[in-house]
Amino acid sequence: MKRIGILTSGGDAPGMNAAVRSVARKAMDAGLEVFGINYGFAGLVAGDIFQMTSETVADRINTGGTFLYSARYPEFAQVEGQLKGIEQLKKFGIDALVVIGGDGSYHGALRLTEHGYNAVGLPGTIDNDIPYTDFTIGFDTALTTAVDALDKIRDTASSHQRVFVVEVMGRDAGDLALWSGVAAGAEAIVVPEKDYDIKQIAEDLKKGFENGKKHGIIVLAEGVMSSEDFLAELKKHGDFDARANTLGHMQRGGVPTARDRVLASKMGAYAVDLLLDGQGGLAVGMENNQITHHSILDLFDEKHHADLSLYDLNKSLAK
Ligand code: ATP
Repeated sequence: MKRIGILTSGGDAPGMNAAVRSVARKAMDAGLEVFGINYGFAGLVAGDIFQMTSETVADRINTGGTFLYSARYPEFAQVEGQLKGIEQLKKFGIDALVVIGGDGSYHGALRLTEHGYNAVGLPGTIDNDIPYTDFTIGFDTALTTAVDALDKIRDTASSHQRVFVVEVMGRDAGDLALWSGVAAGAEAIVVPEKDYDIKQIAEDLKKGFENGKKHGIIVLAEGVMSSEDFLAELKKHGDFDARANTLGHMQRGGVPTARDRVLASKMGAYAVDLLLDGQGGLAVGMENNQITHHSILDLFDEKHHADLSLYDLNKSLAK
């Protein structure tokens, strides 16, 4: 193996740049030539590929977004699209790849491996919804952003004794809601993984105000419903002075936290080691504070499990 390629794909996440830097520098340190591929699998097929130097990744570790850009390119699910990508790999002499992204991107990485080009996936998503890793690259930064926003909302909620339904991201996973809800001291957390009783939530809020609480913060995972819809439901069960707030894409941006940078650096270097060892079709994770890998196929058979102990913890702390 002489040349490796790197691409970022799917939704962007803070820390992706730190991962790209780690892959590039570790590979160069091992004597490999490194190629950046812009715009994910779309750029691979289009041949939007350039040779990286150590300088290419300078001043990137502390930046949000992905400087390799990302794109959705469903055509890569078809063999025709994959073969066009292979043609480009041949043209640039790239032997193996690191793919940074989510579940969909892992499918692309697996297909390339099946075509004889070893590819290793790194979990880059703020949703933390990938199996066999306790944390994904970007989750910690998004969590920090969400908690910062919730703290600000608490200020105004307390000033007016208001209820706020705050919708956080996470797609079908409740991780961001669970973690930010506990960290922000929410009165209630609503996630797709747990049934909820809106009448009970309304009663708890009423009781809370009667007992002297100054605010009622509900952290709602986007996978349940929109904050507006939840608010409308809630109002059927109580005459609240309440507002809906959707944090939205601000959660995807920003300077990556130290934890995300370290996670990305560890995972990136580990991915290069796997490729140097001639392995592909693998996904890197972090389990119990150890960097690990599993077959991408295993990931498709497994579900991500949110830490629902946080839900119970919050219930007992919110009274
Ligand atoms: P996120 O979780 O942030 O959305 P993701 O990687 O799951 O990230 P997707 O849009 O599902 O995002 O996938 C990213 C890209 O991976 C797609 O645009 C496509 O190019 C490629 N891809 C997705 N599914 C497949 C598949 N079945 N086979 C080959 N390539 C795929």
